[in-house]
Amino acid sequence: MENCKEKKIEDYVRSIPDFPEEGIIFRDVTSILQDADGFALAVDSMQKLLEDTDIDVIVGTESRGFIFGAPIAYNLHKPLVLVRKKGKLPCETIEQSYELEYGSAVVEMHRDSIQPGQKVAIVDDLIATGGTIEAAAHMVEELGGEVVKIVFLMELAGLKGRERLEKYEVASVIRYE
Ligand code: AMP
Repeated sequence: MENCKEKKIEDYVRSIPDFPEEGIIFRDVTSILQDADGFALAVDSMQKLLEDTDIDVIVGTESRGFIFGAPIAYNLHKPLVLVRKKGKLPCETIEQSYELEYGSAVVEMHRDSIQPGQKVAIVDDLIATGGTIEAAAHMVEELGGEVVKIVFLMELAGLKGRERLEKYEVASVIRYE
C-alpha cells in the first residue's frame, strides 16, 4: 500500500554532526530547497506564522533570510528590505556590529529602506544565539520602524536566542532542543 503520510518540514532537514566544527549539529537548508515540496512547505509554514500580523515591510537577513523572505514578501505583496554584510549596499547605509563566537561582524541597511512608523517583520532561516537578528532589529528601530514579529524556520532552543530577543514577538516553525 502506498505511504500516504504527509511529510513534515523536519523530514526535509538534513542534520550534519560536527560541521563546521566539532560539537555543532548543522541544520542544512539546502536539503529543503532541493525539494520543491519541502521549499513550498517551508515558505507556507513561515508565512502562516505571519497571517494575523499587520505588516508594512518584510526584512530578510543575508543570506538565507533572503531565500525565505523573498517569496513571503512576494506572496503578501509587501516590500522586501535586505540586511547585508558590510560593504555590499551601494547607497547611504546605517550599520550595526555584533559579537560572533570569535570576533565580530557588521551588517548594514539602506537608510531609506524603512520609513518611521512602519511595521516590520524580520525573517531568517535559523536562530542560534540571536545575535544577527538582534543587530537587524536594532537597525530597523534606528530607522524608526517597529519590529512587530520575527519568524524563523528553525530554532536551536538550547542556545537561548529567544531570551536575547525577549522584547520581541518571536515564532519558529521547528524547534530543536
Ligand atoms: P545567530 O546569529 O547565532 O542566531 O546565527 C546566525 C546564523 O548562523 C543563522 O541564521 C544560521 O544561518 C547560522 N547558523 C548558526 N548555527 C547553525 C546551525 N547549527 N546550523 C545551521 N546554521 C546555523
